[in-house]
Amino acid sequence: MVSLSLPVVETFHSLQGEGLHAGRSAFFIRLAGCTVGCSWCDTKHSWPVGAHGQRSLAALAAEARDAAKAGAAFVVITGGEPLQQPLDGLCAALAAAGLPLHLETSGVGEPSGRFDWITLSPKPHRPPAATLLARCDELKVVVTSAADLAFAEAMAAEAGRLRPPAALGPELLIQPAWDESGSEALAVAYVRRNPAWRLSLQSHKWLGVR
Ligand code: SF4
Repeated sequence: MVSLSLPVVETFHSLQGEGLHAGRSAFFIRLAGCTVGCSWCDTKHSWPVGAHGQRSLAALAAEARDAAKAGAAFVVITGGEPLQQPLDGLCAALAAAGLPLHLETSGVGEPSGRFDWITLSPKPHRPPAATLLARCDELKVVVTSAADLAFAEAMAAEAGRLRPPAALGPELLIQPAWDESGSEALAVAYVRRNPAWRLSLQSHKWLGVR
């Protein structure tokens, strides 16, 4: 049965800060709930589902329509871990707003919904579903150590292996963790000697916007 509401931490219209679409106007829906437990998570307040109110899909779609009129180029469904909620109904409701739908996920959870762009940010301690690795448009790996770089390479190889022979792989992005000493230097040095990868910065944090 399709849920008519979902637990929502916040909605806002801003710029996409990270990844290949960084710098573009976007409307964000941050869903509540995450059991992945990353130690460096910057949205720990989103983890408990019960701490956040339910919002109707119709109200979220109306907000997305308003954001489209105000200049948003696409909708980003993020979290928390959005795949820990059923997304088919939300995507169907948002389709009326006429904007492309983007998903930001760790890949931990049952895939649902229909998306125009999937950002997969896999975590070493909770590997992602193979379906997400095979389907994602960008693979964005947060790095704080050499082990994370090895994990990024393993994920890229696995994403390539899971696709048909002639299919393009995902865009490959390395992102330093915010406020982690040595993380930026590690990421810059890696991307400098690995041209298949590009650097992703959390530009919204540098700008001091959401
Ligand atoms: S998956 Fe995302 S929201 Fe969940 S703990 Fe990790 S970084 Fe935080």
